[in-house]
Amino acid sequence: MLKRASGNVDHVTEKRLVLWDIDLTLVDLRGLGGAWYTSALASVTGATLTELPSFPGRTEKAITTELLTAHGIEPTDELIEKIWAELEALSLQALPTLADYGHALPGAAAALSTMAGREDVVQSLVTGNLPEVARHKLSAFGLHEHIDFEIGGYGTLSTHRPDLVAFARARAAERHGTRFAPDAVVVIGDTPHDIEAGLHHGAVAVGVATGKHSEAELRDSGAHTVLPDLSDTSAVLAAVLGS
Ligand SMILES: [Mg+2]
Repeated sequence: MLKRASGNVDHVTEKRLVLWDIDLTLVDLRGLGGAWYTSALASVTGATLTELPSFPGRTEKAITTELLTAHGIEPTDELIEKIWAELEALSLQALPTLADYGHALPGAAAALSTMAGREDVVQSLVTGNLPEVARHKLSAFGLHEHIDFEIGGYGTLSTHRPDLVAFARARAAERHGTRFAPDAVVVIGDTPHDIEAGLHHGAVAVGVATGKHSEAELRDSGAHTVLPDLSDTSAVLAAVLGS
């Protein structure tokens, strides 16, 4: 649904733009990234994976570049694209079994649907994932319905996560014909990288301690609010709306 404000495009909306991370924020599919990269590296370059880059909070562009370099392969755009095509094919293949492999995190479905019921919230993603992989990871658990995938910031865009926030905010402004003030943007994620990406743009940063980082670590990274998980929907809502 395309909603456009009539007339002045400089209009600043009252709405909040909520940008969700996926892995270990909404879903837990731990271990899958490593398996897919092992297979993609072998089929594209013939190399055997010996070193796995760190994944949490990083973009696919950063991970693929580091992976190729670590295996003595020059990370050309062409090779990176081939690896991504392979990763997307693997995620499509895995789609029917993703729900058996992993799980949605507690409260994720309720948080998404509660926000979707509000006129003052627009929901999309800032995720290091590839766009197609993001779609598969969420749809496997029925978490895709309330997300506007078209305005998301994905891991193909940059090695630098804050760029993804800027991109999503610009896309959302274009789509809704209105500008989202920096502090009307809310970034929710499980790592200091998510928090830093939000703070870099003056956004509200919400940490969820369902990944590898403790509540204290997320707080130390500057999160405005830190939640143990998403199971308390009213707490999630209060963090997002700043109330
Ligand atoms: Mg994450």
